[in-house]
Amino acid sequence: MQFDVVVIGGGLAGLSCALRLSEQGRRCAVVSNGQSALYFASGSLDLLAQLPDGTPVAAPLDALPALAQQAPQHPYSLMGASQVAALANEAQQLLQRCGLAMQGDSRMNHLRVTPLGTRRATWLSPQAVPTTPLDAPLPWRSIALLGIEGFLDFQPQLAASSLQRQQGVDVLVGYLHLPALDRLRNNPSEFRAVNIARVLDMPEQHAALAEEIRRLADEAEAVFLPACLGLEDDRALQALQQRLGKPVMLLPTLPPSVLGMRLHQALRQRLVQLGGVLMPGDRALRAEFDGGRVTALYTRNHGDIPLRAPQLVLAGGSFFSNGLSSDINGIREPVFGLDVYDRAERADWCQRDLFAPQPYLQFGVRTDAQLRAVRQGQALDNLYAIGAVTGGYDPLQQGCGAGVSLLGALHVARHIVEQGGDA
Ligand SMILES: Cc1cc2nc3c(=O)[nH]c(=O)nc-3n(C[C@H](O)[C@H](O)[C@H](O)COP(=O)(O)OP(=O)(O)OC[C@H]3O[C@@H](n4cnc5c(N)ncnc54)[C@H](O)[C@@H]3O)c2cc1C
Repeated sequence: MQFDVVVIGGGLAGLSCALRLSEQGRRCAVVSNGQSALYFASGSLDLLAQLPDGTPVAAPLDALPALAQQAPQHPYSLMGASQVAALANEAQQLLQRCGLAMQGDSRMNHLRVTPLGTRRATWLSPQAVPTTPLDAPLPWRSIALLGIEGFLDFQPQLAASSLQRQQGVDVLVGYLHLPALDRLRNNPSEFRAVNIARVLDMPEQHAALAEEIRRLADEAEAVFLPACLGLEDDRALQALQQRLGKPVMLLPTLPPSVLGMRLHQALRQRLVQLGGVLMPGDRALRAEFDGGRVTALYTRNHGDIPLRAPQLVLAGGSFFSNGLSSDINGIREPVFGLDVYDRAERADWCQRDLFAPQPYLQFGVRTDAQLRAVRQGQALDNLYAIGAVTGGYDPLQQGCGAGVSLLGALHVARHIVEQGGDA
């Protein structure tokens, strides 16, 4: 099977890269065999929140020179500061074209309220999420924080106590009782955010939901709910706000994350509209090489029939998504056998202190400045690596996971198009 580009991995990195290439007329296939990190994510996208030395970052683009000094192997340092600035803009436009309304921009981080009631610096957040500028308090004096009766993946008391303590706001805690959810509630494994959203998004449920919120939270200036609403868009939330006449906002829940899934769906939908070929449930297994080129990619579902493309992009994610694996011999990239950043001694992979930056989070595929993957010390001619499968950065400590995925995807798409001329 012949494509212009084959992408391995259908998470944020792989989908955005295939999408950008499809927008420019390239015929792309995305082979992806599992759920992506988006199903577990907050829905907010981080660009750069902290330098490796622990210095907090307010303005991500201004911090890039310091990052390049402290982490020359970081994907942003490889791409270069001016590219990163241009690609961050491009990424925001790409998300808009997918119909995703996000708040924030790359010049200045903002703070999003977490399910624990703390605030965390980030780049872009869904409109539905409560946020503040870095130096401003929450704009309300009283908030109603409402859980859903029997729903265990969001505990309003957790957020309430830190919002009260750290933000000095009055927080009223309550639980929504909605008969429409009784059938789901009877089966705890079904009573998850996504299934709840499928019910609450139905227009015929909005009156009852608004009435229940009014009963519990009439006094509060704003209402925070678990993100169990708005699987496809903000229509349900807007209807609710109109009925209640006050801001109603969503906090992420435990996975599956409605806010993250919405992002995933929007990217996927636009890719399919543009003619991208998705191969869900398929797994890339091995490749053939001719010198510095990948000539064939074999997958589980296609057996002996290889996928062929002049360009390939590896976006298989990190250990979490099996894009990297570890065994007694060390860290491996299992499909192509690429070179990885790692540490020889297993004892050096982790720190005992659970909250300290963990070295293994920096492990991943080595690339050159064009993000071409390195194998046996040489950058391959036609295989790029992007997103969480790449090494040299710590998405958690540096708060840069989504930015590395999105910007890397666009960097590579740009490079492939420049190399290949017009489609
Ligand atoms: C639990 C979790 C939560 C996170 N939350 C946030 C957040 O809130 N904000 C943020 O900015 N960052 C967050 N991150 C960082 C995250 O890594 C990036 O934001 C980004 O989503 C990673 O995207 P990716 O496409 O590189 O990888 P992934 O999302 O991991 O996607 C890789 C995909 O490739 C597939 N795959 C792997 N190997 C193969 C193969 N051989 N063949 C076919 N398919 C394959 C996997 O099944 C998976 O679907 C989080 C990370 C994790 C692990």
